[in-house]
Amino acid sequence: MKKDILIAGAGPSGLATAIFLTELGYHPRIIDKKDRISEKSKALAVNPRTLSILEKFKLSERFLANGTRMLGMSIWKGDTLVFRNDFSKIKHKYPFMLLQTQKETEEILRDEALKRKIKIEYSTELTSCKLVGSTYISEISGQTKEQFSSDYVIGADGGHSIIRKQFGIESHGFRYNEKWELYDVELEMDLNPNEAHIRGFKEGGMILIRIKDNLWRVAGNMKGLLNYLPANTKIGKITWEAEFNITHVVAKSLTKQNVVLIGDAAHLHSPVGGRGMNLGIEDAYITSTLISMDRLNEYNQIRRSYLKQTVGRINTMTQMMTGHSFVSRFLRGNMNVFKPIIPLGASTLRNFALAQDQVLWTPK
Ligand SMILES: Cc1cc2nc3c(=O)[nH]c(=O)nc-3n(C[C@H](O)[C@H](O)[C@H](O)COP(=O)(O)OP(=O)(O)OC[C@H]3O[C@@H](n4cnc5c(N)ncnc54)[C@H](O)[C@@H]3O)c2cc1C
Repeated sequence: MKKDILIAGAGPSGLATAIFLTELGYHPRIIDKKDRISEKSKALAVNPRTLSILEKFKLSERFLANGTRMLGMSIWKGDTLVFRNDFSKIKHKYPFMLLQTQKETEEILRDEALKRKIKIEYSTELTSCKLVGSTYISEISGQTKEQFSSDYVIGADGGHSIIRKQFGIESHGFRYNEKWELYDVELEMDLNPNEAHIRGFKEGGMILIRIKDNLWRVAGNMKGLLNYLPANTKIGKITWEAEFNITHVVAKSLTKQNVVLIGDAAHLHSPVGGRGMNLGIEDAYITSTLISMDRLNEYNQIRRSYLKQTVGRINTMTQMMTGHSFVSRFLRGNMNVFKPIIPLGASTLRNFALAQDQVLWTPK
């Protein structure tokens, strides 16, 4: 039973893993090079599948009490409403997307970890890691420099994962050159605040999600994005502004012996669909369960094809929403014409957005 486990990275994936492993009777060590939880709002969406996982660890109530509920998603051609996708139609205990900032998600996970007496070692960086015999020796730099031996190493260390590099695991995928703009901004406008809104234009697309009160997340690939808001919108204070490129990649292998990559260390994709953090928490659940069953060697086979398929679907959705190909522009430009058939694809879109496209993995 005794297993020494090192988790590199205390973002949502690493924190969730620490909690899940503790519940299963382990005492993992978790380190993070940053000095505290990130202040950024980043991932807003917690999907029903993640809520089901959190429920197993008695964590869902805290999420549900904190977040707001997104009840549907409206698709617009410019200012014309084309279709409303109603999330209440999914067959799930939680028929909505829960919204809260990633900072709030990490705070809830951090507080739960502390309650379970897990020490989160901030300002502590993993600088190298290698396998010596059957033990992983990690060089760790915190208040002092030290070597740490463990039986397992969990790479929850984000998109630039040092663990992935140290063990020579390549990623498969590509990066778009185009910049996306992102704003968290106070807006006064007539859009339903309890839904996401996808607005398509010939030049590209944008997504609007209300975070709280009149603070909205606006993201998309059109230059001068805020000029594409609905007519007569009053723009207030901008609380966060960022520019980023979309990368769609999945690690070629998720494991190497007892090293496992989870979360952004293993897969990166566009924010369309709101899956990144959710997939990371799901990775954490499957990884922890398999470690407790001495079956980590099955992880890659269980998980990688699903991740590849999911990133592929996110790419298709991203292309339809923002792509510049003839087909993407044609679809966006003629949404009104396709209006009668859009409801046929509505349940597929809904199931994907709410991660109901596959049943939650359970150990056999
Ligand atoms: C603008 C934006 C919007 C997004 N929207 C959504 C959304 O709506 N829904 C969703 O699900 N996802 C969304 N995401 C994605 C989401 O933010 C990420 O998928 C999520 O943060 C991944 O969590 P993680 O724990 O795997 O990695 P990270 O959050 O990147 O955490 C990795 C941690 O590892 C630490 N670390 C790195 N290297 C080392 C080292 N050598 N030693 C020790 N520690 C180290 C870092 O300091 C960091 O704290 C969004 C992302 C962005 C940028």
